[in-house]
Amino acid sequence: MQKRKTILVTGGGGFIGSHLCERLLADGHDVVCVDNFYTGSKNNIRHLLDSPNFELIRHDITFPIYIEVDAIYNLACPASPVHYQNNPIHTTKTCVSGSINMLGIAKRLNIPILQASTSEVYGNPLEHPQTEQYWGNVNCIGVRSCYDEGKRCAETLFFDYRRQLNIAIKVVRIFNTYGPRMLPYDGRVVSNFIVQALRGKELTIYGDGSQTRSFCYVADMIEGLVAMMETPPDVTGPVNLGNPGEFTMLELADLVIELVNSNSRKVFKPLPQDDPAQRKPDISLAGKILNWKPQVQLREGLLKTIDYFASIL
Ligand code: NAD
Ligand code: UDP
Repeated sequence: MQKRKTILVTGGGGFIGSHLCERLLADGHDVVCVDNFYTGSKNNIRHLLDSPNFELIRHDITFPIYIEVDAIYNLACPASPVHYQNNPIHTTKTCVSGSINMLGIAKRLNIPILQASTSEVYGNPLEHPQTEQYWGNVNCIGVRSCYDEGKRCAETLFFDYRRQLNIAIKVVRIFNTYGPRMLPYDGRVVSNFIVQALRGKELTIYGDGSQTRSFCYVADMIEGLVAMMETPPDVTGPVNLGNPGEFTMLELADLVIELVNSNSRKVFKPLPQDDPAQRKPDISLAGKILNWKPQVQLREGLLKTIDYFASIL
């Protein structure tokens, strides 16, 4: 059993963050969850509130906070394109000022800090699959830029804190992750399709549906995040975390319709600006340094996610 720590999880009230808080508590740690509930929900962590090892602080990480902890997972940031584009200035602030505030804590306390970066740093990738060496193809003035460039700048900050101050940084590039506790209306494709199929509504395919994504089940993602935090101080990343199985949005829609056993049809809508045409992680580095690879395939993960949405709708 590893040493008991007090661990800060920013964005701990969100989809991935709530699963991470749960996991860290189960591992015997004290968890401090900081969230402004912009896209998270108290419902995600209500079952943890009674635990004597769990603390919740409603706080926006763009403002400084003074806190004593042993490690930080920085997950605070809206992740759905609909949400991060709703207040794009605040999205950039969360990525940049929020990271500076969290890195400041890591610097003062000399503790490890993990940054939830994203496959969006690769933009609309010209290399496929994406390795960590690829620098990306990102529009810096488009509607997705607040998030893409915000997260890229956050990575820059993390690596400068490493070079200048020797902070133990851990940068992971998360590819599309799905599972229970996604918001039913957050606009991401997995939740949209499942909710639409369960309600017998048309599944909204953006563009011609030939664009691809690689979907990682949340339990696998949590394993990867925890494994990365447990690496020695010199392991900084960036490291891709995702499931390399690659699907078109048409394939995803058909699979959801089949698994829900729904009569829903597909309807085509305009493709959002700068929507990447393809996404697939090369996860050899994660395999090498973390001995990690996803275990849950899409069909199995979707069934669990469908059960969840069926229970809350
Ligand atoms: P989410 O929107 O469910 O969770 C984000 C959480 O951060 C929410 O609880 C939200 O209220 C909180 N938050 C947002 N801005 C904040 C601020 N300024 N101060 C404090 N709290 C704030 O999203 P998620 O899918 O759980 O994503 C978690 C992290 O993982 C994000 O940083 C996201 O960029 C990253 N990520 C997620 C995916 C994915 O597919 N889910 C992919 C790549 C990267
Ligand atoms: N998408 C879709 N229908 C929807 C929502 C999304 O076809 O109802 C598409 C979207 O255009 C993108 C893919 O699904 O090509 C993944 O979108 P999501 O917002 O989940 O994640 P991201 O674009 O950030 O990878």
